[in-house]
Amino acid sequence: MSFSDLHLSSSLLLALQKEGYTLPYPIQSEAIPPILNGKDVLGIAKTGSGKTAAYVLPILAKLEKRIAFTNREVPVLVLVPTRELAMQVAMVVGQFAKYLKTRVKTLAVYGGVSINPQMQAMNQVQILVATPGRLLDLVDNNAVKLSKVDLLVLDEADKMLNLGFKKEMDHIIRLLPTNRQNLLFSATLSEDLASLSAILLDNAVTIKIDAAENEPKLIDQTAFLVAADRKGPLLRYLITSQNIHQALVFTSSTYKADNVANKLRKNDIEAAAIHGKKSQSARTKTLKQFKSNKLRVLVTTDLLARGIDIEALPYVINYELPRSPKDFIHRVGRTGRAGEKGMAISLVTEDQLHHFKVIQKKMGQWTELIDSSDFDLKGY
Ligand code: ADP
Ligand code: MG
Repeated sequence: MSFSDLHLSSSLLLALQKEGYTLPYPIQSEAIPPILNGKDVLGIAKTGSGKTAAYVLPILAKLEKRIAFTNREVPVLVLVPTRELAMQVAMVVGQFAKYLKTRVKTLAVYGGVSINPQMQAMNQVQILVATPGRLLDLVDNNAVKLSKVDLLVLDEADKMLNLGFKKEMDHIIRLLPTNRQNLLFSATLSEDLASLSAILLDNAVTIKIDAAENEPKLIDQTAFLVAADRKGPLLRYLITSQNIHQALVFTSSTYKADNVANKLRKNDIEAAAIHGKKSQSARTKTLKQFKSNKLRVLVTTDLLARGIDIEALPYVINYELPRSPKDFIHRVGRTGRAGEKGMAISLVTEDQLHHFKVIQKKMGQWTELIDSSDFDLKGY
């Protein structure tokens, strides 16, 4: 199948060609037709498999046929869990929208930055990409009305329907018209999730892209058994001896993220940290640097586990394991995207062996555990 079989406009086909999208990925060829037909869609496909364009392209196809909208009444709302993902999704929209003959205005709104510029930019927005909290603030300030939303997207849908967002999501859903199209996407979403029924129509189409049997694995995994006090030296040894030129390192707390980044820098390995206690301007600047390959190591928390797309990122390192196997899947999924190969390394202490087994079982993938106790880490 090619993009031209999907009933997209010539401007969108040009956009795809210019942006190097030669062939549709499976989730795109499966999801675009029912979305264009107005169906609710539940799209489940692995990390890095092109879910963003699977909803962005048909949304643009719909909007380019419509005339401009009235003030502050957005027709399309995309909800995402983090500020960084909001910016990224808006960028993907912009990347394609710039080729259209009609102007489609997109805006990302998220917390941590001043609300006034967002309020002022709200005029005539057609695709609003938002994190829930800031969206509700904007509603409270009468900067946006949700009563004309006819298309709702939940990206990272399982996360959006999670307890952590429940109060805000319930509130937002109450503000939306009942008659609307709903698109839910995630790599880790089970079709029988109870909270789905509150959002989706009965006749929703479920699209689940399973890996083909003979499909080569994109993500190679290794794990090292390591004593807690040797983790830092082992990390630095691996980065240096394996010539790792770019790595995203996950820790489980803001404190640890700072600590690991500081120690890397002290050992002359260029590193920076992103976590919830950093200012938004620092977060945005550091991620931009890392995405453009100008920073060797980015140390973070599960804040960046979901959705973030870093082109051809070669390594993900779990300095500490996440509590939830789902988070593990998303962390590791920052590498091995868009057909590129990637490597995931996990540092495991003895007391976490059982937990690591649980994670692997959930992933259905067994990783060799290398005992690092006789590695000579002197000088690291
Ligand atoms: P997901 O949301 O499934 O994790 P993304 O939508 O972030 O994945 O896409 C992952 C990467 O694949 C992005 O860099 C995107 O530009 C690229 N991509 C998506 N679809 C295509 C395509 N059809 N051809 C080439 N690259 C694509
Ligand atoms: Mg995504």
